[in-house]
Amino acid sequence: MKVLMIASEAYPFVKSGGLGDVLGSLPKVLRDLGVDVRVVIPKYQDIDESYQEQMTHIADFQVDLAWRNQFCGIETIEYQGVPIYFVDNEYYFKRKGLYGFFDEAERFAFFSKAVLEMLPHIDFIPDILHAHDWQASLASVYLRMRYSQLEGYKNMKSVLTIHNLKYQGVFAKEVLGDVLALDENLFHEDYMEFNGAISFLKGGIVFSDRVSTVSKTYAEEIKTAHFGEQLEGVLSKKGDIHGIVNGIDYQTFNPLKDPALSKRYKSSYKSKLLNKEPLQKELSLTVDKDIPMMVFISRLVEQKGLDLILRVVPEILAEGVQLVVLGTGEAHYHKALSEYAKRYPDQFSANLYYSEEMAHKLYGASDMTLLPSKYEPCGLTQLIALRYGSLPIVRETGGLADTVDSFWPETGTGNGFSFSKYNAHDMLFTIRRAMTFYRNPEVWEKIVKNAMKADNSWKNSAVEYLDLYEELG
Ligand code: ADP
Repeated sequence: MKVLMIASEAYPFVKSGGLGDVLGSLPKVLRDLGVDVRVVIPKYQDIDESYQEQMTHIADFQVDLAWRNQFCGIETIEYQGVPIYFVDNEYYFKRKGLYGFFDEAERFAFFSKAVLEMLPHIDFIPDILHAHDWQASLASVYLRMRYSQLEGYKNMKSVLTIHNLKYQGVFAKEVLGDVLALDENLFHEDYMEFNGAISFLKGGIVFSDRVSTVSKTYAEEIKTAHFGEQLEGVLSKKGDIHGIVNGIDYQTFNPLKDPALSKRYKSSYKSKLLNKEPLQKELSLTVDKDIPMMVFISRLVEQKGLDLILRVVPEILAEGVQLVVLGTGEAHYHKALSEYAKRYPDQFSANLYYSEEMAHKLYGASDMTLLPSKYEPCGLTQLIALRYGSLPIVRETGGLADTVDSFWPETGTGNGFSFSKYNAHDMLFTIRRAMTFYRNPEVWEKIVKNAMKADNSWKNSAVEYLDLYEELG
């Protein structure tokens, strides 16, 4: 079985969120199961120099996009046993940052087309093209509309995994002819038309042989108007949307081997606690290992439920908790968080930047990880938090509902705390409930043990992907 994963990011080369984590971890595990998985991403300027130096140039050719004819280079690295290909075009990808440019449609149309064009050049004819999110969705569209009749592509099948339905790649309808050079008939509600424009993701859903998303609950939620982002109709029509929950890389996220931690630990709560004071010192918070620390590590966007937190910051702090935020995103959130940090310098820390190292330190040092998302396709934050014994406090939606079990004192089961309504006071009530257990160290230690025992590695989910590929093969 040969599979090419197509995505706009992959850890450790580039990552803006969970998508990058998945592409950095799932392929290795599938290779262990005997699948020849390879990965292709754009060659962005942001990729660390040390990786750029290791790349080998293996091909170049021209790619047509309507009247345009663009250079495309292919470079490669083998990373932890996985061949990674980089699509190189300086005009499209030699820019600071990954997303949000005026010509997104053209950049990712180029990327998807280049992937189909590169296959004969790299001498790899996959059985399955596995595209991720809207940026890679056109690979499925081009395969079906342009390539499936050609020698080498005839038996190729496509899978699309949706990591977040909100981001769809919606562009003016003129893009269809002027950039994609696809037939105007696709501007139709059964194909790519979306509110008078075109949607790359919708095209991917319609033309992929299979569609999956990243948790079982989200797979059901997105067929409803509330979560469907106006694609619930096309998703319901597609039929079976496979829900395969994400795992995390147990090597990258391993408190026993994590170089970012002051004190590494396996399952000992006492050892974990030794990470707290050094971090409090670093963040200029009151230094005392008995003060409970709650973290929020996330993109700062509405999805993540930051509005609920901002509504009750003083009440949360009144519980005696230190609240530490690590994230970047929308300017109004940066402003509100900075103001709280100024107002409560000993208790509230706003770290408005992106840092893998700081994220690891926070997971290692904290007692609780807050994630009150409005919706959450899977969520990796809570999986990492469980692994590090930072108990997740989450809203019961999508993957959060599938991976966090609320603690139940009568039976001693559960690995975190959850609430169902998107409401600041329900969240606050749940934080207070968590705090009653925190004040009883014996019980807390028991919940931390439960959390660290949860298996959220890729072991099971990788097999589900393999089953999906085999169904198609
Ligand atoms: P999403 O993909 O919606 O952003 P996920 O929970 O699936 O959310 O994945 C988020 C990933 O990004 C986690 O690995 C989390 O630790 C990481 N992350 C988010 N913000 C930051 C940040 N500012 N610095 C470091 N890591 C971050």
